[in-house]
Amino acid sequence: TAAAPSQYTVTLFPGDGIGPEIAESVKRIFNAADVPITWDTHIIDVHAAKPGEDLISKEALDSVRRNGFGLKGPMATPIGKGHRSLNLTLRKELGLYANVRPCVSIPGVDTLYHDVDVVTVRENTEGEYSGLEHVVFPGVVESLKVITRDASMRVCEYAFEYAIQNNRKRVTAVHKASVMKLSDGLFLECANEVAERHKDSGIEFQTLLIDNAASLLVSNPALLDVMVMPNLYGDIISDLCAGLIGGLGLTPSGNMGTGCMLAEAVHGTAPDIVGQNRANPTALLMSALMMLRHMQLRPQAQLIERSVYTVLQEGVVRTGDIGGTSTTTEYTDAIIRKMDQLR
Ligand code: ATP
Ligand code: MG
Repeated sequence: TAAAPSQYTVTLFPGDGIGPEIAESVKRIFNAADVPITWDTHIIDVHAAKPGEDLISKEALDSVRRNGFGLKGPMATPIGKGHRSLNLTLRKELGLYANVRPCVSIPGVDTLYHDVDVVTVRENTEGEYSGLEHVVFPGVVESLKVITRDASMRVCEYAFEYAIQNNRKRVTAVHKASVMKLSDGLFLECANEVAERHKDSGIEFQTLLIDNAASLLVSNPALLDVMVMPNLYGDIISDLCAGLIGGLGLTPSGNMGTGCMLAEAVHGTAPDIVGQNRANPTALLMSALMMLRHMQLRPQAQLIERSVYTVLQEGVVRTGDIGGTSTTTEYTDAIIRKMDQLR
């Protein structure tokens, strides 16, 4: 592989609500860790867009395409103004084909489980979310689930690539081919084919019915590793996994696109605490760390992650959403101090 560039430019969408506060925290921490990133900041003014227009400008989308990396805070799509949803625009325009969510138990964060270390890789472009629904006649609706060979191969390939790059042991394809014989059957066939191609990689492969996966995740999540699945299953299972480790406020998320990656916090804009310096920046920060690993900036990602984990484990400085009383600034300062100690 080619040597990694020494300096990166990343498109930053701070977003709405608490977005700017948590983005500021990420920028300060990255700065203190000497991460070689220049931010190309784009403020999306969702109220400035005319009805029917896209909320994200072509210029902002071009910036992600050009830089190859973007980081996105939470954004609110105004409802009922005739805009294409923000997420839909980003997904279509950037070709975001896989959503990746690593969920690891965080020591010191009180949850029912302590040994979770799973990654959901969700197909992000088709399946049950193709948007093809129609009324056959009043009282009867059909909704089309579309599964293609291209999209299935691509997302399964990515799951293996991720597993190899991140030293994982196993990829599990999650499906319901016992009932959806043709659609999930095709997905499963593709997963098997990709697994066959990677049989010398040392990554194990297994298949699991979606209902069995749900049961296993709540009874013994330690038995699962990387999971790859069609859109709807991935939507549900990725939130389930976030719940296993303490919720969306702690869970990173990354979207793989054609020639680019968009890391994002999947929680909302938290309108109830905006401007109060109370937001928890962990989810956005952890998403940004996924991006660093993808850029081969692992030492910096490792240092920041260890500092976050240590601060959370010590439990002295933490934000209100996870039972503390500290401000966003105090938590950010604590992580920066911890980095100086651990370095
Ligand atoms: P949106 O419409 O943007 O989804 P929402 O009203 O659904 O906003 P969420 O952002 O989804 O609100 O948040 C739900 C709850 O979780 C709120 O009480 C919010 O304050 C809290 N919350 C969400 N994210 C964070 C965070 N990063 N730090 C602290 N609290 C958070
Ligand atoms: Mg919400």
